Amino acid sequence: MALNSVCSPEISPDPADQDYAAQYCNDFVSRWDELIDWDKRAAGEGQFFTDLLLRAGVCRLFDAATGSGFHAVQLRKAGFNVTACDGSPTMVTRAKANFAIRGLDIPVVCRDWRDLDPRQLGTFDAVLCLGSSLCHVFDERERIEVLKRFRSLLRPGGLLLLDQRNFQAILHGNFSSSGRYYYCGKTASVTLGELNDSLCEFVYTFADGARYRLRVFPVLPGKLRGEMESAGFVAQKSFGDFKSVYDPLRADFIIHQAQA
Ligand code: SAM
Repeated sequence: MALNSVCSPEISPDPADQDYAAQYCNDFVSRWDELIDWDKRAAGEGQFFTDLLLRAGVCRLFDAATGSGFHAVQLRKAGFNVTACDGSPTMVTRAKANFAIRGLDIPVVCRDWRDLDPRQLGTFDAVLCLGSSLCHVFDERERIEVLKRFRSLLRPGGLLLLDQRNFQAILHGNFSSSGRYYYCGKTASVTLGELNDSLCEFVYTFADGARYRLRVFPVLPGKLRGEMESAGFVAQKSFGDFKSVYDPLRADFIIHQAQA
């Protein structure tokens, strides 16, 4: 699926990079859970998201980039009313299978973020976009439009939780894939491929030699906070690797909290 092409120096020259659904091919998605290692990821995150959501009085939440359903499962088990969503049909199939195996009846929609509509989906107390997902949108104006769509699904004062790999650290030459938080699987390694101000390529290599690539836009934490504000959010706080005090040039992942 190609995004609308808007003339901007940020846009990757290769339209294939913007085709996120094609990047999540069947083979790669079938190994996503091996890459994540659900148990280790859950241990690395601890109660971080649950505590933030409970503190904000959240009941109904929308997991906008559910992928194979990791957070939807954790949060449903924690008692939240979860709706899962992803624009990749292969990921949605995988999420449905993961929900079924665990006996969880979690509604799932296969929808691109640009098509999210509260008249069809209702409104929520929180929207989550986790796992470094928004960086699949290369153009700033399109990211702001997506953020506005997220905001349209929130009740007034509702919560947005959105994380990104720490592209500031990565562009400073400090890429580290500690394997402690998001991609914890021991049979896969994550390395960097092409890297510049407009493109960051992650290379996922599995023990049997299989190799997959994700090519995304390296959106910087400060820029993203500005984009959230442009979309009408009040940026509240950022965390590095789930901590409120962190080294902005060392943390692996930055998590942003904002209010509609
Ligand atoms: N949150 C999951 C996790 O942490 O394991 C998946 C993260 S994966 C890096 C990014 C996800 O965002 C993919 O499942 C992809 O299909 C989804 N995605 C990217 N761009 C999207 C868009 N425009 N609309 C809907 N989903 C999108």
